[in-house]
Amino acid sequence: MLASLQRELDQRKADGLLRQRRLLDSPQAEHIVANQQPYLSFCSNDYLGLANHPDLIAAMQKAAGDSGVGSGASGLVTGHHRYHDELEQQLARFVELPAALLFSTGYMANIGVLGALVGRGDAIFADKLNHACLNDGGYFSHAEFHRYPHNDVAALEKLLQASTAKHKLIAADAVFSMDGDIAPIPEYLALCEKYDAYLYIDDAHGFGVLGEHGKGSLNHFKIKSPRIIMMATLGKAAGVAGSFVAGEQVVIDYLIQKAKSYVYSTPAPPALSATLSASVKLIEQGDHLRANLQALIQYLKANLKLNKWRLMDSDTTIQPLVVGDNLEALALSEYLQTCGILVPAIRPPTVPVGTARLRISLSATHTMDDMKKLVAAIHQAERELCA
Ligand code: PMP
Repeated sequence: MLASLQRELDQRKADGLLRQRRLLDSPQAEHIVANQQPYLSFCSNDYLGLANHPDLIAAMQKAAGDSGVGSGASGLVTGHHRYHDELEQQLARFVELPAALLFSTGYMANIGVLGALVGRGDAIFADKLNHACLNDGGYFSHAEFHRYPHNDVAALEKLLQASTAKHKLIAADAVFSMDGDIAPIPEYLALCEKYDAYLYIDDAHGFGVLGEHGKGSLNHFKIKSPRIIMMATLGKAAGVAGSFVAGEQVVIDYLIQKAKSYVYSTPAPPALSATLSASVKLIEQGDHLRANLQALIQYLKANLKLNKWRLMDSDTTIQPLVVGDNLEALALSEYLQTCGILVPAIRPPTVPVGTARLRISLSATHTMDDMKKLVAAIHQAERELCA
C-alpha cells in the first residue's frame, strides 16, 4: 500500500495538484509572516478581521480563567456549559430563528445534520458546487443523493417533480466557497412549498457579512420559513472556530438526540463560546466593517483589467480569478508570492477541471493600499506570464 500512496502523491505533484501547507509564524491576519517571510495575505476567511480583535482575546483569556480550557465530555454527558448554552440562545436570537445548536466545526455540523434528518427512502437534492462536507453529509445519511447543475432552479424542480422520496431536503451553500456567487434561496423556498420539501442552507460565507447587521443570507433575502434549517461556521467572519445549526425547536431537539457528530463528540471548550458571544456582538455592531468590505470588493472589480484571466461575477468577499490551467494557476500564485502577496491557487477536484483559479479572499481590515498592490501585481503577472 505505501508504494501506491507514494505513486499517487508523485502523480499529483506532476499534475500541479499537490496541496502544500504553509507554516504561519504570526497571528493569521491580512499582514502575516509565513515561513519567516512577511506577506500581504488574501487567503483568510476572517472576513471582518475579528480573529485578532482585542475584545475577543480578552474574552477568551477571561473565560479560560473561569471555565478552563476543555469541555471534558460530550454535550449530553457533562460537556454542555452555560457559555455554550448562552451562545446558542444568542445565535438563535441573532439569526431570528427559534433555536440553535453548536457543533465543533462546520464540517461536523453538515455531516451530523444531513445524517440525522434524512435516511433511506428519503432524498437530498444538492447543488453540484456545494462544499465537500455537504456531499459527505449526503453519503452519511444513506438517502438518495441527487446533484443539480449549479444554481439551476429549473433542473432542481424537475428532480423534485420526479421524486417519490418520503422526505425531500434541498441542500445548498448560500455563498459558494470557490465562486463567491449566491444561491437563489427564495426560489428554492418556493420549490420547497410546492413539493413539500425542506431547505438546508450552509451560510458559512454569508454569516457576518450579508444581511442586516451581518445576520446572514436568509436575512439578505428577507425570508423566513419553518421549512428552513441553516448552518453557519464560526471560524470565518466570526473569527474564532466552531459552527451552529439553527431552525425550528423540534429540529434542534431532534438533532440533540440524533446528530452523531453532536452526540458522540466533545464540544469545543466553553471559553470558545464565551469568545464567540463577544464576537457576535461585534458582528452586530460591524456595519462599518461591512461597508469597508463592499468598498474593497467594488475597487477590485472596477480596477482589475485583464486580457486572458477573468474575475468571476461575484459581489461577495470571495473574488475568484479564473486562470484555467492548473500549472498556470500555480505559476500565478507563485509569482504573486515573489511580490510578497499570498493568494491561494485552487485546483481540481476542489473546482471543476479547466477552471483552476486564485481565490482572492477579502477582509474588512484590508486597506485600499493593499488592494492597489494586489491589482498592480496581478497586472504585472499577466504581462509577464502570458507574454
Ligand atoms: N461549508 C462551507 C461552504 C465551507 O466553505 C466550509 C469551510 N471551508 C465549511 C462548510 C466547513 O466549515 P468549518 O471550517 O467550520 O469546518
